[in-house]
Amino acid sequence: MKLTIGHLYPDLLNLYGDQGNIKCLMRRLQWRGIEAEVKPFLSGESLDFADLDVVLLGGGSDREQELVCRQLGEIRRDFGSYVEDGGVVLAVCGGYQILGDYYRTAEKEIPGLGILPAYTKWEPRRLVGNIILDSPLSLAPVVGFENHGGRTYIGEGAPFGRVLFGYGNTRTSGYEGLRYKNVIGTYLHGPLLPKNPEICDYLLERALERKFGGVWKLRRLPDRLERQANACMVERYCDRGYVWRERVGRYLPF
Ligand code: GLN
Repeated sequence: MKLTIGHLYPDLLNLYGDQGNIKCLMRRLQWRGIEAEVKPFLSGESLDFADLDVVLLGGGSDREQELVCRQLGEIRRDFGSYVEDGGVVLAVCGGYQILGDYYRTAEKEIPGLGILPAYTKWEPRRLVGNIILDSPLSLAPVVGFENHGGRTYIGEGAPFGRVLFGYGNTRTSGYEGLRYKNVIGTYLHGPLLPKNPEICDYLLERALERKFGGVWKLRRLPDRLERQANACMVERYCDRGYVWRERVGRYLPF
């Protein structure tokens, strides 16, 4: 039993440890006795989505993003079919913006892939700092780091989470990211998955279900350090919330 993880354009899209997401996906599969293979696709290389079970698109600067967009035009249809078929994707920051309809900077409009119902407009004040969300995909609050000039508008789409601390999609909407089928688009670097193992397992379970059928619930892992780190961030930045208490082995309000 094996899952294949495709890392798209790590030579251009890889900021603030986005690569850690790949390691986390691999290790959490291996800890459950499931084989994992990573296929990096450098810019210019061809790829076949039929071989992939999870796809990661990381973040990049506006310049790198534009380069990637040109190349992605060639695989737009295959990428779209993969998503419509329930293919699992994690798209972070620049990667999230690329999957939308367009990204309008101060100078020009960079066309997106039109896979996610969203569009992005650049504004001069960058949104930078730690961020904490309440997400339906995780019992623990989701923690991360954001740094973007773009504001992403998701219309009626389902957000990844509600912002408890930080800026999120537009600074004012109160929401962060977008969920569409088995795609998570988000501004959260960190990297996201090692900091938020419940999100990692959510993506893996969807990928296992798509490949092998049935309903998958992965065996829980101790995640002691992850929960302690999470509680530390939530207590530091939120005035109230739920955090893991090792002593009693469950989440309690503070
Ligand atoms: N170019 C985008 C922005 O600044 C994405 C940046 C990133 O991926 N960190 O909005």
